[in-house]
Amino acid sequence: MHYFDYNSTVPVTSDARTAWTNANAEHWFNPSSPYLQGSSVRVRLDEARASFASLLGCQPKEIIFNSGATEGNNTAINYFSRTCERGKRILVSSIEHPSVREPALRLDKEKIQWVGVGSDGVVDLELIQDQITSGCIHAVSVMAANNETGVIQPWMEIQDICRSTGTLFHCDAVQWIGKLNCKDLGVVDFVTGCAHKFGGPKGCGFLKIPESSDHVSILQGGAQEGGYRAGTEDYPSIISMLAALNVANPIDSKLRDSFETELSRLVSGIEVVGGDSLRLANTSMLIMPQFENHRWVNRLSRRGFLVSTGSACASAKEGPSYVLKAMGIAQESASRVVRVSSSSSTDSHAWQLLAEAFCEVFLELQAEKPSSGIIAV
Ligand code: PLP
Repeated sequence: MHYFDYNSTVPVTSDARTAWTNANAEHWFNPSSPYLQGSSVRVRLDEARASFASLLGCQPKEIIFNSGATEGNNTAINYFSRTCERGKRILVSSIEHPSVREPALRLDKEKIQWVGVGSDGVVDLELIQDQITSGCIHAVSVMAANNETGVIQPWMEIQDICRSTGTLFHCDAVQWIGKLNCKDLGVVDFVTGCAHKFGGPKGCGFLKIPESSDHVSILQGGAQEGGYRAGTEDYPSIISMLAALNVANPIDSKLRDSFETELSRLVSGIEVVGGDSLRLANTSMLIMPQFENHRWVNRLSRRGFLVSTGSACASAKEGPSYVLKAMGIAQESASRVVRVSSSSSTDSHAWQLLAEAFCEVFLELQAEKPSSGIIAV
């Protein structure tokens, strides 16, 4: 099996598995319990928090552990909504993950200002700057890198504009963390991170918040996480997430780029979405020259190559990707889109085999007669 869907999820690394197993064997006590075993887990939890803070370049008390990116993103948008003064708005990019987009769509229309992207998949920085300097923006939410296209967003520039104008900034860095250096993320007010995208367990993540963001939590209950997030902390998952991040390796774009060149040679008429933009080194979103994407994905999967039609979250829903729509890509072209995403352990041989498998599938689909009335998938 050749897995090429790492933007969807990453297998738990062996370090992360060991850390999780050991913690569940030895340090499974409730960190809020009043006896020694509980306080020992509390100490370890705070050590893990300090390590995360140091990796991100922020203060330990600014790290809130939670159940993952969906919770983190919902928390940030909810907090912005609750703290937004009348007449001000929250600026959200039109390519955000559904865990930002859906809570934003549920807010009063006058509270939200959407900001689009160009055909390159990059958010309109000039518009963001104009909106922020006009003084009507309470907070901004723009992701670090898009999960579908891999296109990197100018989050550092946005952070600078926000900082100089006192505007809150939230950055969903789920696809960035573990692939690129996260040292500078700590300067951003709100940062979402998610363990299973970099080799940690599912259902675990964190939200970096600015100090003293009172009542940030969307969960009501106990006073865990310094009162910022109710619910017993899952120390084994948290230490496992840290172990995964500690061994995450940067990915070289050379292999992905060679694959794109080779694939274009084997299957003519392929388009790379955001091909001229700065992208995550592991991601390739391709518009195939013919045939609906589900047919490509099914045929490739039968040959042992696991790729996706876009984001895993969007694939259960009908209709073309809103990300591609925001980039001005026609619905018909969007229906032919296939996303390939690798890890640092994907070697050139695996990429070559994938290119050849695409070519075989292309020939197979072309050879079939649509006039039979039955379209095989
Ligand atoms: N944000 C981005 C950019 C993502 O890619 C994902 C998952 O695909 C999420 C948020 C949500 O992650 P989860 O479903 O693990 O909460």
